[in-house]
Amino acid sequence: MSEPIPSFDLKRNYARVEEEIEEAVDKVLSSTQFIMGPEVQGFEREAAGYLETERAVSCASGTDALILALMALDLKAGDEVITTPFSFFATASCITRLGAKPVFADVEPKSYNISMDSVRDAVTPRTRAVIPVHLFGQMCKLEEAADFLAERNIAMVEDCAQAFAAHRRRGSGIVRAGTWGELGCFSFFPTKNLGAFGDAGMVASQSDTLADRVASLRVHGSPSSYFHGEVGINSRMDAIQAAILRVRLRHVETWTEERREAARRYGLLFAERGLLGHVSLPEETAGNRHTYHQYVVRVPRRDELQKFLAERGIASRVYYPLALHLQPCFSYLGYEKGALPVAEKLTEEVLALPMFPELTTEEQERVVAGIAEFFLA
Ligand SMILES: *Cc1c(COP(=O)(O)O)cnc(C)c1O
Repeated sequence: MSEPIPSFDLKRNYARVEEEIEEAVDKVLSSTQFIMGPEVQGFEREAAGYLETERAVSCASGTDALILALMALDLKAGDEVITTPFSFFATASCITRLGAKPVFADVEPKSYNISMDSVRDAVTPRTRAVIPVHLFGQMCKLEEAADFLAERNIAMVEDCAQAFAAHRRRGSGIVRAGTWGELGCFSFFPTKNLGAFGDAGMVASQSDTLADRVASLRVHGSPSSYFHGEVGINSRMDAIQAAILRVRLRHVETWTEERREAARRYGLLFAERGLLGHVSLPEETAGNRHTYHQYVVRVPRRDELQKFLAERGIASRVYYPLALHLQPCFSYLGYEKGALPVAEKLTEEVLALPMFPELTTEEQERVVAGIAEFFLA
């Protein structure tokens, strides 16, 4: 039997930058400056430069980035925050962690992203913020709600955990994920497109006031040691992660282009095999640069297909099998099955196929051949 095809292969990626990373990590080890310090500041400066934004404030994880962003907005009990039911859990739990109430707005069937029409419909006088998630690597149509939200003083906090290096057209220019709303939250979990070798995260902002607030909140609310203006949390980035991220940031454009090329190849292969009636492919919304953090198709008989592929050594994943509004921990919010039909349908049909920069054409051919055998044989 041929080699198994993984969903994601960090080993192949590491092999390409091993020397650079070892050198960077060695430097940190001999410096013995392990938490914050010059490496972390260097990464923040370079990340802000890449995003073309005023400020980038590092922290310990993507989850903390979301919590810090909402803390910086002074979110409190009784406030409502609108977000998508079709995302990773942390998108919603950061809201309840601050005692606020998540309000879920349904998603679009093709982009899988939150629908700006449903966002507008979900706004109430208690709405304080919206968290659009740029799911699987492409940006939401933020322009469709930006003015509406701004007029009502509702903050936009972008969840960019899956969308580092994504951008969207605005007028004659582009806006990078994380620089459109008041705050943009990133995760550098190892499997994200820009991944550390441990937990790490970042909050980007164009506002010095908000960035300063986040920078203080991540060190116990203490802008200067041992004097606390307010109560924050401990969410610092460690220098080893920062050093690794600085190396990997230099390659992220190449790796993003390789992912885009792999996505284009999947499209051609599915068309060649006559599978477009069985498999609906992920769509790149007009104006977007999709970074294909995941390559997610929609198929009937999804669970059967996944098992069929697994028997042939082809890995696939289901993101996400249960919508957030139906999670047991959120039952107190009172959502019933059927409340958000598009998201619920997606949970039954989505399948993430192998996707990473080093994925070979031959592997992609085997993935598509396996799917052809399932639907057409
Ligand atoms: C990964 C992820 C997070 C959380 O990031 P961590 O670094 O794992 O805490 C939040 N939102 C989304 C959409 C994610 O994919």
